[in-house]
Amino acid sequence: MDARLEAIRDTVLARNPGEAEFHQAVVEVFESLGPVHDRHPEFLEAAILERLCEPERQIIFRVPWTDDAGRVQINRGFRVEFNSALGPYKGGLRFHPSVYLGIVKFLGFEQIFKNALTGMPIGGGKGGSDFDPRGRSDAEVMRFCQSFMTELYRHIGEYTDVPAGDIGVGGREIGYLFGQYKRITNRYESGVLTGKGISWGGSLVRPEATGFGTVIFTQEMLKTRGSSFDGQRVVVSGSGNVAINAIAKAQSLGATVVACSDSSGYVVDEAGIDVGLLREVKEVERGRLKDYAERRGGVAYVEGGSVWDVDATVALPCATQNELDGDAAARLVRGGLLAVGEGANMPSTRDAVAVFQDAGLLFGPGKAANAGGVATSALEMQQNASRDSWSFEHTEERLTEIMVGIHHRCASTADEYGQPGNYVLGANIGGFVKVADAMLAQGLI
Ligand code: NDP
Repeated sequence: MDARLEAIRDTVLARNPGEAEFHQAVVEVFESLGPVHDRHPEFLEAAILERLCEPERQIIFRVPWTDDAGRVQINRGFRVEFNSALGPYKGGLRFHPSVYLGIVKFLGFEQIFKNALTGMPIGGGKGGSDFDPRGRSDAEVMRFCQSFMTELYRHIGEYTDVPAGDIGVGGREIGYLFGQYKRITNRYESGVLTGKGISWGGSLVRPEATGFGTVIFTQEMLKTRGSSFDGQRVVVSGSGNVAINAIAKAQSLGATVVACSDSSGYVVDEAGIDVGLLREVKEVERGRLKDYAERRGGVAYVEGGSVWDVDATVALPCATQNELDGDAAARLVRGGLLAVGEGANMPSTRDAVAVFQDAGLLFGPGKAANAGGVATSALEMQQNASRDSWSFEHTEERLTEIMVGIHHRCASTADEYGQPGNYVLGANIGGFVKVADAMLAQGLI
């Protein structure tokens, strides 16, 4: 790493003790930024990096609610409003027991660069709670969401901060959150949340957008080597929103997705995952992958194993951070892997990224490859602002244009800085320069 940046990095790490995921995200970005500071010493003089690493605002709050047995439960809520140089803070809410400040900050930090890469006027933020919606009744989830919004509402707004979904937050949760916001404020402010239902301000393609976008980005990478998804053998991790839609899109382009997972195990389905059945089990019945395996019949279900033991030519990690380590990456490379498109945020450890890059594979980092979700959220905001709703075809066309544009921005930035094919460098520099220029223009704030 560039010596000038090392000192800044050390200060950032020391000021934010115990936040391992945030440290990892910061270090990864800093490793790319040396050449930018050679060209732009003004960024160093204006302390852009020090400011970027310090969120503009961090909100932590108590979320009290009552479970179905009448017992009081207490969770912790977070919203980190990281950077508003390009627009209102924008980023999802995650409800998962692993959530703490370090996770929210890593996600918020990544979001700054991702949102910049989309070319849309959105800043970076992220939030969530250590609440676990799994195994909770609809009534419990509703009471939790209402309590969460009873604090959050005062910090958000269509011109301030616009949350959306992430792990554990889908259409159901966004509905309860929006209802409570509307009730407290007495305003039908559609643009305050994205991922809404289609009849009350949502956008077509938003549910599919992250998974579809990941596949579109990966297809663009494959094209640079004269290839495509057609005929690829694909492994996807996760079986939630991003994973299911990545599977659907990859198969629509001629690939066979032979495996996917949840946090309990994975399924190997050599004929290709049956997306209709998977949606029914996971989205309608809120069941587990094991249920899919039982209903599908004739497929292998491996309890507790790693989906990365299954050979593939394309890997799409779509579950969670640090789910794919260096050993798994080496195994995949030995099995004939050609490309990785990250649907999740930071799913590959730093060791895994190094293995992929050393092997000369196509590697699309999450902040570029999974930006289709937030980009389509920005399209939802556009539709809300103009009181309009677009067709599926038009919205998908816009998503495709945006993903092709992000791919082009990453690839051309990597070329410009003398490292063709290095999408990590291209995404980090491409996103950073845009935000840094805006921060310089807006003065010391
Ligand atoms: P969902 O809650 O819909 O699905 C998450 C999936 O990942 C589930 O299959 C879940 O399994 C699995 N998973 C979650 N945590 C773990 C864990 N600790 N270990 C193993 N498996 C785990 O979330 P999304 O699909 O929305 O999000 C997936 C990833 O994509 C996240 O990294 C998210 O930040 C990222 N992302 C999401 C966007 C969106 O629009 N939703 C936008 C951009 C990025 P189980 O059910 O067993 O918990």
